[in-house]
Amino acid sequence: MNRIELTRNLFIKSALKNRHPQLAVFIVMLAGYVFAILAGLIGTPVGSHNFSIVFVWIAWWAILILVAVPFFGRGWCAVCPIPLPGEWLQRGAVLHPLDKKPKWLNLRWPRALRNIWLQNIAFLLLALFSSVLLTTPTITAIVLAAMLFTAIGLSMVFERRAFCRYLCPVGGFIGLYSQTAPLELRIKDKQTCVTCDGKPCYNGASTSLSANSGYGCPWDVFPGGLTRNTYCGLCMECLRTCPHDNIAVNLRPFSADLAKPSARLDEAFKAFIMLGSAMIYAGVLLGPWGALKDAAFYVGTSAWIIYAAVFLGIIFIILPGLFSLALFLAHRPSLKACLGRSRGVGRGTGLRTFAMFSASLIPLGLMFWVAFSLSFVLTNAAYILVSLSDPLGLGWNLFGTADVAWRPIFTSLLAPAQTLALVGGLIWSARMAQKAADESKISAIPVMAYCFAATVVMLWLLL
Ligand code: SF4
Ligand code: SF4
Ligand code: SF4
Repeated sequence: MNRIELTRNLFIKSALKNRHPQLAVFIVMLAGYVFAILAGLIGTPVGSHNFSIVFVWIAWWAILILVAVPFFGRGWCAVCPIPLPGEWLQRGAVLHPLDKKPKWLNLRWPRALRNIWLQNIAFLLLALFSSVLLTTPTITAIVLAAMLFTAIGLSMVFERRAFCRYLCPVGGFIGLYSQTAPLELRIKDKQTCVTCDGKPCYNGASTSLSANSGYGCPWDVFPGGLTRNTYCGLCMECLRTCPHDNIAVNLRPFSADLAKPSARLDEAFKAFIMLGSAMIYAGVLLGPWGALKDAAFYVGTSAWIIYAAVFLGIIFIILPGLFSLALFLAHRPSLKACLGRSRGVGRGTGLRTFAMFSASLIPLGLMFWVAFSLSFVLTNAAYILVSLSDPLGLGWNLFGTADVAWRPIFTSLLAPAQTLALVGGLIWSARMAQKAADESKISAIPVMAYCFAATVVMLWLLL
């Protein structure tokens, strides 16, 4: 299937280029974000009746995992309020660029940290404390405030959106799974970029008089070299600044980016972190094991320390270890001969192959999260109506829905929908593994078997 260029439509293009609709959404989002912090700090400590828990971990999470990431990739980052205050301070402007910028330090992010290991660590920290985070409004408020103030602080010291690019624990997995989305921003013609003077999409065009005035890519990406969605925050700045109308927003086939997977270990481990976390969350939050729930909740106890060690062991040793074993088997000529796929000696062994093949786990991981979130969200969705009317748990009834009784919704659809998601993810990942194996001239069967085993475990945990 070819790409369909959405920005050919003049209405879509001018809506995306215009800063005002985006600003309006930003302001609403920022107000909601600040309210979530306040609700967490001053509202009821009962998580299921506090706006911060209900709207962040149920409503926002449902929209993010079930809609935004699968269909719009980094679409959430296009309207996320976290980087805004820092970015507005950094730019000294809310809308158009000024001719004279404020004097902040504007340093380059350290070269040694230009990867997503810090994002991986930040996500793991949240994951290890998730039982407390998901149920305690004050902790949620502290984490939300910490993200906001860290983003502001980094904007004062480093250029562009350093927090988004290198630290945000949410941005890390959105970037990973955005590669599967059927939406992308890309250049139309390479040659036009080669001959383009000044590369305003990266460097900015700050004369307020210019029709194409705008900021250089806030994500420190050169749009002319974009081949994957991972680090493009869909801010639309390059669409505004490109003087040659060389930027397009396209509809495309799902998982198009995975045809040429990254060979980076930090991104490979992100795939294992997300796959493992989905399975562990399913066991802890949805499973029947009280002792496991207690171990995850009582942070600092010896049970929690064991839980944390097992959590990290699964993610950093067991899952990648078994995956390496699968790749080792895939490279064995005897196995290939056995399976009738002997087409020469396997190429590209080692870490590079490990990293490239781990991309085939991305669809599986996304579908694990979809299946897990369906359970979590459909069970708790009734709290959204309650919290809408009484966001602080103070006995208000703003919209007459404060007394809606808790009950799970669409329960009869849950198991079939989860099974569909998991089996779909398995088939999707198996196809990715087959493509990668064909290119490397090795057998895909061991990687497929790995995906199958992980899916069986997830089915067992969820159903
Ligand atoms: S990377 Fe994080 S902070 Fe930045 S826009 Fe995306 S979700 Fe928001
Ligand atoms: S995307 Fe536009 S502004 Fe950027 S290098 Fe290409 S032609 Fe120039
Ligand atoms: S400027 Fe363009 S390439 Fe950079 S994040 Fe925004 S939309 Fe993506």
